[in-house]
Amino acid sequence: MKYGVNEQGYYGDFGGAYIPEMLYPNVEELRQQYLNIINDADFKAEFNQLLKDYVGRPSPLYHAKRYSEKYGCNIFLKREDLNHTGSHKINNAIGQILLAERLGKKRIIAETGAGQHGVATATVCALKGIECVVYMGEIDIQRQAPNVARMKMLGATVVPATSGSKTLKDATNEAMRDWIANPVDTHYIIGSVVGPYPYPEMVAQFQSIISQETKKQLLAHTGKELPEYVMACVGGGSNAMGMFYHFLDDEGVKLIAVEAAGKGVDSGHSAATTALGKEGVLHGSRTILMQTEDGQVVEPYSISAGLDYPGIGPQHAHLHKINRAKYVSITDEESLQAGLLLSQTEGIIPAIESAHALAYLEKMQFQKDDNVVICLSGRGDKDLDTYIKYFGY
Ligand SMILES: *Cc1c(COP(=O)(O)O)cnc(C)c1O
Repeated sequence: MKYGVNEQGYYGDFGGAYIPEMLYPNVEELRQQYLNIINDADFKAEFNQLLKDYVGRPSPLYHAKRYSEKYGCNIFLKREDLNHTGSHKINNAIGQILLAERLGKKRIIAETGAGQHGVATATVCALKGIECVVYMGEIDIQRQAPNVARMKMLGATVVPATSGSKTLKDATNEAMRDWIANPVDTHYIIGSVVGPYPYPEMVAQFQSIISQETKKQLLAHTGKELPEYVMACVGGGSNAMGMFYHFLDDEGVKLIAVEAAGKGVDSGHSAATTALGKEGVLHGSRTILMQTEDGQVVEPYSISAGLDYPGIGPQHAHLHKINRAKYVSITDEESLQAGLLLSQTEGIIPAIESAHALAYLEKMQFQKDDNVVICLSGRGDKDLDTYIKYFGY
């Protein structure tokens, strides 16, 4: 696949595994084993069964009629918000717990931003009866209290990350430290298409179920497998990579990735990585990240905890550099307005992350026959407090 990973773990100039010597055995074990394991018939059977009976897949592809009328095209929402635990993250969590089991691991660690990946991980650990430790930034713990309670109820230990901006990137650092200290019995479930190779590839493959289903569903709806546009929001980039995956080689399909501009790209409070970032190494891979002149990571900001990350996955960095996908950004305010519009036009309250992708519709021009697929990555329940504060309900 032209846009895929090469044998060294690179997507063009990006990717690889930039890790401390002490992590090498863990990552190398994964690299050597993951393809054999996930291509094994027994693994596939269990993965597909759980996606069907536990997650509720296939998630519907919903033709949003009133919404389509407003924008003058045919808009289809890929309903990852209807998954068990409320977002796309469960797809990856199930894939990785089945992998960890087959690697003989007895303990799971994870990092989380919005808490969605932490909840997904705590959920699959409960399902499998495996010990679970989740690292979470102290600020995220405050703004995502219901998800913290959920993780605890599911039996996970939630450890606050208190350094730096006390958000996702700091939680990621803490999780890496834990893994270095516990190399033999622990598997680290990374929640997005980031980290050292093979994580970005592995997570993209687990999430690729999104576009695999979409092609079939779109064919049933429209008589065509290929839409004009495919859109998704990007934090680290896993829902977007899953949504793009099976469309990458269909060059006629325009891919649009929406980042969080926060209070504005140039406001100093933003997470618009491709607009502001430069090439460098973050959390184990060469990618694009927001950094100062001397290479310090810039603290990102977004109203949505899931997009509040200073980098993007290496495959996104590649798709951006070679212009296969278009990277744009949307402010806090624009995303909240888009969340309100979807709620009142279709009766669906989206996660604020997903609302970023929806908001970009305002900036596009369509032909009336255009088919547009948008990944509705998650539901808005976790964000109600933020919506309430903004709209004053
Ligand atoms: C975590 C999250 C995101 C961002 O993560 P990606 O890896 O970029 O997909 C987007 N939407 C929701 C609902 C999330 O929970």
